[in-house]
Amino acid sequence: MQVPFLSFAPQHQPIREEVISAMSRVYDGQWYVLGQAVADFETAYAAFNNTKHCVGVANGLDALHLALRALNIGEGDEVIVPSNTYIASWLSVSFVGAVPVPVEPSPVTYNLDPAKIEAAITSRTRAIMPVHLYGQACEMSAIMDIARRHNLAVVEDNAQSQGAMADGKLVGSFGDANATSFYPGKNLGALGDAGGITTNSEELDHKLRTLRNYGSQKKYYNEVIGYNSRLDEMQAAVLSVKLKYLTEWTQQRQRAAELYNQHLAGIGDVVLPAIAEGSTHVYHLYVVRTNERDALQKHLSDAGIGTLIHYPVPPHLQQAYAHLDMKPGQFPIAEELAKTSLSLPMWPGMGEQEVSLVAKAIRNYFA
Ligand SMILES: *Cc1c(COP(=O)(O)O)cnc(C)c1O
Repeated sequence: MQVPFLSFAPQHQPIREEVISAMSRVYDGQWYVLGQAVADFETAYAAFNNTKHCVGVANGLDALHLALRALNIGEGDEVIVPSNTYIASWLSVSFVGAVPVPVEPSPVTYNLDPAKIEAAITSRTRAIMPVHLYGQACEMSAIMDIARRHNLAVVEDNAQSQGAMADGKLVGSFGDANATSFYPGKNLGALGDAGGITTNSEELDHKLRTLRNYGSQKKYYNEVIGYNSRLDEMQAAVLSVKLKYLTEWTQQRQRAAELYNQHLAGIGDVVLPAIAEGSTHVYHLYVVRTNERDALQKHLSDAGIGTLIHYPVPPHLQQAYAHLDMKPGQFPIAEELAKTSLSLPMWPGMGEQEVSLVAKAIRNYFA
């Protein structure tokens, strides 16, 4: 492979000793679930995200699910979700027995379009779930304004966007309870599954800690029907080390994106990422669009360049959501994005040589 879709090497090699020694401390400490390493990471991540609390959980999907549970959203309720997100956002709504109500994104930024939200609000709507897709912050001032006017909760899906900002404020600090994922490939990734919820509410923090641990605060005394969704000590220890480098890695992603923007300008019908005014982008993914997506992907694959499609089928057309009876054509922007989007190689430490190899192969295709 000339250029893989993603390489962990530039991130992981320089901090190898630091990570191994953090893992050794957990190994030797003989305490493996909900101990000091989790508490330390929660404190550090809350500080990074500029929120009062962070609750570590098992993965990003659980983080979304528990956030909705803690807000008492359930049967008979509706939650507004983007029509073009990863299925996890919708699944979390379904888990609590509520109905996901899709709203189309901006065809320019690919994020939830605030101008389309109010038309989807009904007497059953309880929350809005903005997803900062690909790493770009949603237009949160407008979304928070709508939520306040209609008395709706906000649960941010911050899985792809740790460190991105909207109007100078960090994503993950706007909503009532905000979920993030530390899946290995995310901007802050563990060495396995992990997730977290950030909140400024003491009450939600307490509820979430209870929900993630069998509905229990005091061992063997159960207040509510809870879950086993705990962040483990080993992953927390790794995450605390990696968090120290996140800002530097984000800058490297942004530098690679800038290089792509320069190298890819004006090629064929290729549409480059666009950033909303007031938002920043941390490039979890660098996504371009072209009407020749499938042929271009094959051309790049033949040239030894790894790409992926985020996402080939929008949630409303997934078999899992057949019961909602949504039809092709019902969410045309999401469907168009699914047909034309292509994620190019992107990782912290990706060099100009790799960007230029990818750009050259794309130029060759359109030549
Ligand atoms: C990765 C991701 C999730 C789910 O995270 P997991 O840790 O894989 O459960 C949720 N939403 C979005 C947008 C994601 O990209």
